Amino acid sequence: MTELASRIRALPGMDALLGALPGLPPVYLVGGAVRDLLLGGPVGDPDIDLAVEGDGVLAARRLAARLDGEAVEHGRFGTATVRTGELAVDLASTRRERYGHPGALPEVEPAPLVEDLSRRDFTINAMAAPLSPAELGSLQDPHGGAADLRAGTVRILHQRSFIDDPTRLLRAARYAARLGFALEAETERLAREAAAAGALARVSGPRLRDALLGLLAEADCAAAVEHVAGLGLDRSMHPALSADPDRVASAALGAAQTGADRVLAALAALVMDEPVELREWLEYLALGRERTDRVARAADDAPRLAAALRRELRPSQLHRLLAAEPREALALALALGAPAEPILRYLADLSHVRLEVTGDDLVAAGIAPSPVIGRALQETLARKLDAEVSGREEELALALELAHRAGREAGGR
Ligand code: ATP
Repeated sequence: MTELASRIRALPGMDALLGALPGLPPVYLVGGAVRDLLLGGPVGDPDIDLAVEGDGVLAARRLAARLDGEAVEHGRFGTATVRTGELAVDLASTRRERYGHPGALPEVEPAPLVEDLSRRDFTINAMAAPLSPAELGSLQDPHGGAADLRAGTVRILHQRSFIDDPTRLLRAARYAARLGFALEAETERLAREAAAAGALARVSGPRLRDALLGLLAEADCAAAVEHVAGLGLDRSMHPALSADPDRVASAALGAAQTGADRVLAALAALVMDEPVELREWLEYLALGRERTDRVARAADDAPRLAAALRRELRPSQLHRLLAAEPREALALALALGAPAEPILRYLADLSHVRLEVTGDDLVAAGIAPSPVIGRALQETLARKLDAEVSGREEELALALELAHRAGREAGGR
């Protein structure tokens, strides 16, 4: 058996899958799994891609029935996922794609495997390993992907590749960073040219978001951002965007310390120099209201937080400063040189401090429901954080005193 055949067989659930293929149209392992198996390392993406030279959805249904699993059909051209206990594979009918205008989604129609391979992004991702018993272990590699893997090269398949789909620019940066590869000279020239011509500004928000978040999710996101800056992809996404790999790396590190979302913290690091100008672009990425706000808040507030945290603060002041901030703002403040100690103290201790009394206790003690109650409780919490009161009785006495005083002051006005 060839080395490739034994690596394919060793994939979880693959033996059963191979046994369930007879009678189906030709099925091939494609995409990242082939690349990773040839590199000899683990397969990065646990969802394995299979190409079917025929009806992918029908093949998925029959495989699911034979393997006692389930097939989920996606409604997109001939694609379905088959899941069993130990296996998840995405099946797709082999197809050709035609691009109407740059950046648009392609028109799709069935085509033989070779054409399916020639619509792909890079030679290293454009190989197929047949899964039929007679051919297992052989490789279909019409674009020289195996040679590029050995040479450590990211190479596009044709001159118009980046124009047809500019998200490939970000994918190129991503693979170069992940694999430690270099862009082949002509690929690099075309990438710079497409970027300078504003290719990425023409991509729809959701597609740009997926490609950019994918890049920032790379383990070595700083290396990926270095390629982004080096190729001019940042300015191609938006003229005010200026990617700083060190800051992105520090933000990712800060995210690990603070429990922030690493990708959102890295995105905030990208936009923080021009948060006002880039706000609209952030909206364009269609991250959803909550995630957009977290990124925007982090980018807006981190410089102020970093400056404030350099001063000596009482626990109540620290709490007031950080309580309404998203974790990504704390991560970015760390990246900007804020001392870690107060941030970690806030996260570990202060953020969990709660009063033992509630507004209901004050109402039960005769305070009329009004905003006075909220303010009294807030001030009581501040004194508790500064260790000036402790225990339910002291809290209640202080909160009542503060509420009565506020009531008297309001009455006296
Ligand atoms: P990984 O998930 O490890 O990054 P992958 O190669 O599996 O690698 P996916 O994004 O899952 O990446 O894509 C699967 C395959 O689909 C790729 O290997 C590539 O052949 C093809 N592909 C994905 N995106 C594009 C694109 N924008 N243009 C052309 N081909 C693409």
